[in-house]
Parts: sequence; structure tokens; C-alpha cells
Amino acid sequence: MDKTVFDVVIIGGGPAGLTAGLYTSRARLETLLVERMIPGGQVMTTTKVENYPGFPGGIDGPDLMMRFQEHCQEFGLRIETGEVEGLEDQGEYKVLTIDGEPVKARAVIIATGAEPRKLGVTGESEFTGRGVSYCATCDGAFFRDATVAIVGGGDTAAEEALFLTRFAKKVYLIHRRDELRATAILQDRVLKNEKVEPVWNAEVTEIKGDNSGMKSVQLKDRVSGEERTLDLEGMFIAIGVTPKAQFLAELLELDSEGYIQTDTECRTSIPGVFAAGDVRKKILKQIATAVGDGAIAAIMVEKYLDG
Ligand code: NAP
Repeated sequence: MDKTVFDVVIIGGGPAGLTAGLYTSRARLETLLVERMIPGGQVMTTTKVENYPGFPGGIDGPDLMMRFQEHCQEFGLRIETGEVEGLEDQGEYKVLTIDGEPVKARAVIIATGAEPRKLGVTGESEFTGRGVSYCATCDGAFFRDATVAIVGGGDTAAEEALFLTRFAKKVYLIHRRDELRATAILQDRVLKNEKVEPVWNAEVTEIKGDNSGMKSVQLKDRVSGEERTLDLEGMFIAIGVTPKAQFLAELLELDSEGYIQTDTECRTSIPGVFAAGDVRKKILKQIATAVGDGAIAAIMVEKYLDG
């Protein structure tokens, strides 16, 4: 890193981080945004975003995030690839360890988002990448004419099930209850799709396969207790997300689920450290709310730096 003191370092390049970066760089604060992989966050794995205002007819997730990035770069936001390994509070300065190097900032915005939750069953890690996936948008096309399943009952599961019907011949929707959590419009679409067969009250207890990949899952009916085997060529797990904040657990207050605790102005328990987007505890996780958080966190950084 050529420069070692920034006004603000933003960790994470999803909708919250990029929005914060747009605001702080437009406000002429010396900003560095650090992203572990490519900017865009979870939206990069979404086929179509239909509920972000301004895009009637919807927009592909990666297209939307490319526009976010281009917009930030109009104001000169510096985006670097790197892994933030630690954050230390030294009062006026916060010291980040980025790929082993210390970088000083007067303020920090944590916008690391969340990652897919694991089922935690036997065979899950063994067959990940060999039939088991957490991203239908990324891997769905490998399952042409196959029989696959999606696990979960939320918006992600419903959207991904619909996406998979483009390739697979059959999509089981395995849910632990007999009612989906997904919004009505998505429920309607998914349950009316003739390729989709819901499997209600079902718990995946094991994923089985051989050297060539997964072959089946073991299901337990949560009402009757009956067990059965379902033959599958692929399984997509969409059971929600876990916040990416564990690397800050010693510094910041996290709740029981690992979310960063903030007030409504995105302040954490440490002055000068803010959190925005899915990594912070809040009622609604959407692109629109992440963008709102990013804007609030950036304005709060300006106020903080102004004393
Ligand atoms: P979610 O809404 O938290 O839903 C997770 C689903 O997985 C729930 O149906 C839950 O079952 C199930 N589940 C959780 N843990 C499980 C376990 N251990 N075993 C089996 N099933 C389990 O997660 P999401 O669908 O990823 O959505 C996350 C957020 O993003 C939500 O706020 C959602 O609205 C938003 N989102 C929005 C859109 C959109 O608006 N287009 C698209 C995608 C995501 P229960 O129902 O029984 O709890």
C-alpha cells in the first residue's frame, strides 16, 4: 500500500461499501475500499434484481454492481483487492492489517456483508463443489437436464429454484416447514412452476455420494419421523446467511448470531468505527437498505472527522 494513512477505510465492496465509498470520495475524503474478491458482494450471485428502484423490468445483479462501481470511480474511489485480517483501535487512528501490512485510518466503515449459512450435515463439505453448491446463479448451468434440489424457504431459495428450472428437468424444493417464508409473488411463481416439487417438513440429515460426486440425500420428515432417500445430481443450499464479522469479535460488540451491534446511525461500540449493510443487526436485508446504511455511515464518518 503506497499510502498508509487514509481518512477512511471501507472494508467490503458490496452495495453498502460502494455506496459509502461514493459518498466519502465525493466528499473529498481520502478513501480506500478494500475488497477480498471482486466488488459487488452477494448481489453478484443474483440473476435478476426486481425490487431496486429505478430499474423497471429488473436488472441482472452483476450489471447493477458494475454500475455501482463505475459510479464510485467517477469520484475517484480507490478500490484495492486485499484481506483485512485485523483492526486495532488506537483512538485517533484505527490500524488495519491488510494482507499483513499495517494501514492507518482516521475512521473505518465495516461493510463485509454475510456469507451462506451451512446445513452442518455429514457429506456437506465433502461434496461442496461436487454436486453441493451455495449459488444457483453461479453453478446452475452445470445441471442441464438433471434432477436437483434447493434447500430453504426464503426469497433466495424461491428465486434460485426458479432459476434452476431453466436448466434442470426437476427441482425439489426442500423446506423444513409446510409454508414458505419467501414473499407472496415469489411463492406464487415457484409453486406454480411445473418443474418444481415442494418437499414439506423435510430435514436433510446426510448427503451421500461417491468419488464422482453427490448421488442422494437422506431426508427426515419432521412430522412423521419417517426417513427416505432422494436421488439427486445436485443440491443448492439457500438457508440464509451468517455475518462476516468474526474477525472483529475481540474488538466489537456482536450479538448472539454474530451481527455487529450498531445504533440507527451505524455507529459501533468504538468511536470512529461504523458498520453498514448485512453485517450489522437490522430488520431488513435488501440492496435498498444496504445502500441506505452506506450513505448514513459515510455521512456519520464526515461528522466524526469534523469533530
Ligand atoms: P432467509 O429469509 O433467512 O430464509 C432462510 C430460509 O432457510 C428459511 O425458510 C428458513 O426456514 C430456512 N432455514 C434456516 N436455517 C435452516 C436450517 N438449518 N435447515 C433448514 N432450513 C433452514 O434467507 P434468504 O432467503 O437468504 O434471504 C435473506 C434476506 O435477503 C431476506 O431478508 C430476504 O428477503 C432477502 N432477499 C431478498 C430477495 C428479493 O427481494 N428479491 C432475494 C433474495 C434475498 P424457516 O422459514 O423455517 O425459518
